[in-house]
Amino acid sequence: MTVSANLSDAIRAAGVVGAGGGGFPTHAKVEGEADTLLANGAECEPLLRSDSAIMRAEPERVIGGLALMRDAVGAERAVLAVKRKNLDGLPELREAAEAAEGIELFVLDNVYPAGDEFLLVYEATGRVVPEGGLPVDVGVVVNNVTTLAQVADAREGRPVTHRFVTVQGEVKRPVTVWAPVGTQLSVLLDAAGGPTLDEYSVIAGGPMMGRLADITEPTDKTLAGIIVLPNSHHLVSVRKETAGHALKIARAACCQCMACTELCPRALLGHDLQPHRTVRAIQHSMEASEHAHVTSAYLCCECGMCELFACPLEIRPRRILSELKAELKRRGVENPHRKTGLDPDAVRQYRQIPSARLLQRLGLSRYDAPAEAAADALSAGRVRLLMRQHIGAAAVPAVEEGDSVLEGDVVGEIPAGALGARVHASVSGDVTRVSASEVVVERR
Ligand code: SF4
Ligand code: SF4
Repeated sequence: MTVSANLSDAIRAAGVVGAGGGGFPTHAKVEGEADTLLANGAECEPLLRSDSAIMRAEPERVIGGLALMRDAVGAERAVLAVKRKNLDGLPELREAAEAAEGIELFVLDNVYPAGDEFLLVYEATGRVVPEGGLPVDVGVVVNNVTTLAQVADAREGRPVTHRFVTVQGEVKRPVTVWAPVGTQLSVLLDAAGGPTLDEYSVIAGGPMMGRLADITEPTDKTLAGIIVLPNSHHLVSVRKETAGHALKIARAACCQCMACTELCPRALLGHDLQPHRTVRAIQHSMEASEHAHVTSAYLCCECGMCELFACPLEIRPRRILSELKAELKRRGVENPHRKTGLDPDAVRQYRQIPSARLLQRLGLSRYDAPAEAAADALSAGRVRLLMRQHIGAAAVPAVEEGDSVLEGDVVGEIPAGALGARVHASVSGDVTRVSASEVVVERR
């Protein structure tokens, strides 16, 4: 068996998926060929600290996973990309990288969205991923640093059962906890001393790309953090807006100033995405037509820069593009945008937004706490293990109510022949509920 087949099997067995939010099954990435393996340690979203926590706690595992992936895909270069502000506080990581053979450190500016895969590839290699393409199209495989630590674990037969999750915002003690996958969000809040307000909202994920969540929801393998905010916070209001409202405001107020396009990171990379033109294109109809400025929704990475930073008139181009993308998919309209050989805009480097300025604009500067990792792993009495925590087919429950499981046992299996990921028990205990969508385990 080849090195890559061996590693792919181990990663598949361990249920590793893109931990940075993508959730793509990592074993499928081992099957590509690339000349560069890129570790994404940008920790792009403001306020989240989970990637920093893993790079501080387990630098050798991150570097080890990077070297394993490099060898498996036959890459010549292995690059660990980290933001300057994070690297300054991570001497352990710098030492581990310098001690390892053939690992390059690449220092990223403190800007948003430095962690977008396409931007990261361009920064580290000078190559532009084509429209509608993937990093592997230009010879690069990108993995998040938490994922790489999990790859190193997988090699040793340890499945994904825990991950670091940051709890920030209106909580008494912002913290990053090592939490069993499937922990209820309310348990995370307790670990941070509880909310400081009686009435609050929770954003799951980062402030730019996260979504409103209920505290009874469980964590999954891709959740890096939760942010607690007052109900009156601007970011909460934006997420509560309906698509209809967003459309109405866009039609009534857009002045075609182009600020959204001028700051769009994908447009600056040379992709034919012009959100101001999309807003104009839907002035009369939200129909998912084959108009180029409608189908360009497929080129949007939903970073939120246009609606949360650029637009002076509270218009939501990202929301509109996201709705259009969903509708295009429903109608079976394929992405027609496939341009290659793209040239980034010459002014790109002057249009990157410093993270501190973004925080200020979002009204989040006061929440920018270290949220350092707690000394002990979080103990959850009950976990809800979702069968869909990843891109691809949902896992199929592999246990029955009344079964006893040990931490690390398989509770969800990949359906035969499908792209998917296994799910493992994150605590030892009794299976108390099984449905097509989840398996509940109560700790003994
Ligand atoms: S920034 Fe806002 S007002 Fe300006 S073109 Fe874009 S959506 Fe319209
Ligand atoms: S969300 Fe807005 S800024 Fe980000 S890629 Fe999409 S159109 Fe561009």
